[in-house]
Amino acid sequence: MHTIVLASGNRGKLKELQHILAPAKIEVVPQQNFQVPEVEETGLSFVENAILKARSACLHTGLPALADDSGLEVDALQGQPGIYSARYSGVNATDASNNAKLLEALADIPDEQRGARFRCVLAYMRHAEDPCPLIFQGSWEGSILRRPRGEHGFGYDPLFLVPGQNCSAAELSHDLKSTLSHRAKAMSGLVARLTRTTA
Ligand code: IMP
Repeated sequence: MHTIVLASGNRGKLKELQHILAPAKIEVVPQQNFQVPEVEETGLSFVENAILKARSACLHTGLPALADDSGLEVDALQGQPGIYSARYSGVNATDASNNAKLLEALADIPDEQRGARFRCVLAYMRHAEDPCPLIFQGSWEGSILRRPRGEHGFGYDPLFLVPGQNCSAAELSHDLKSTLSHRAKAMSGLVARLTRTTA
């Protein structure tokens, strides 16, 4: 059995990875099982922030680690909120305040110019000094609605119109979102690579 640490407090992500990697005899354990301090996300890209989190988890656990960083890029805002998606409306940001700020920023933008995408980057490091982290990326194209729709999901899901489904990401079932999303795409690259190297 090969063990990796997940540098995230999100139980949904942990469960999903444990489920996918168990057949390849890879055990995924949360960094909460160790004394891993919160790391400051000082990078200027998703890749840098994912690496900062993975490196810190390796350093404090002595195990290989996986971290993700994700966010929403809006074309009419030159890619904002991007890496600042979680804290778009300030240090005490909530999903509701972030969504309200986004709607306000796009108030005068016509429908055909409201293109956006979610991005997810996963970084896998064998140890804290790993000079060659494995990086996997996924993106999910859509556009920004004029008002929130749906009750599922989190973050910007209620404002993200999913092309081809005629609904917001917050109106998709959990199962369908986890086959279409940016995170699912990044994860499938990671799983293919990890299952190949440990087979
Ligand atoms: P994190 O990488 O999980 O910390 O996510 C960063 C931020 O990006 C979240 O707080 C959300 O605001 C946004 N985000 C990332 N992925 C999603 C998603 O699947 N749906 C909605 N918002 C997302």
